[in-house]
Amino acid sequence: MNNELSNPDIPVPSELQSAVTITSLDKIYNWGRRSSIWPMVFGLACCAIEMICTAASRFDIARFGMEVFRATPRQADLMIVSGTVTKKMVPQIVRLFNQMPEPKYVMAMGACASGGGPFKEGYNVVSGIDKFVPVDVYVPGCPPTPQALLHGLIKLQEKIDSQSLKSVRWYGQETSEAVPVPVLGPDLFDPRQHALLAQQAGQVQENTESVEE
Ligand code: SF4
Repeated sequence: MNNELSNPDIPVPSELQSAVTITSLDKIYNWGRRSSIWPMVFGLACCAIEMICTAASRFDIARFGMEVFRATPRQADLMIVSGTVTKKMVPQIVRLFNQMPEPKYVMAMGACASGGGPFKEGYNVVSGIDKFVPVDVYVPGCPPTPQALLHGLIKLQEKIDSQSLKSVRWYGQETSEAVPVPVLGPDLFDPRQHALLAQQAGQVQENTESVEE
């Protein structure tokens, strides 16, 4: 048993310390989850090369129990969005996010995934994946080094440590809704904004007709 799990408020007699640890349910639950995060194999551009390096022997991501990259979202806990997020890819990213089981986490790796990066406001790029799926940790850099990615993973572990069984959303009464998958048209179309877009389109049409008359 690991010392970091021990509850310092409840002392254990010295003759029992090699065999007994007193902990809380939250601590042991979070310790198990934070020590076995399985990321999804998912790369979009140059940042993905740094993510691949992080999994190589030099940086040894296995120290954190995170070396099991899964090739399916249904077995993954963490989506590392590593690279430039084009409008064409957003529907696929959201669909993969929806297919991940709870508890699930998202990391925006690099300037592109966090805010558009050098391509911000380009015709084909979105200004950050957090416009579409909830992001837990942002890793700055263009590209971030493997050390920076590992630091982001440690920050994610700290976030998991702070969660409690009593309040996490996946054990709550309410069912969690899937994120609506954006539709790729001439530009991205967000179904959540449908009413507003329809209203604006109607106004434009009315204005055009009144000018023609
Ligand atoms: S942040 Fe830099 S390195 Fe990463 S995908 Fe964008 S351009 Fe490439």
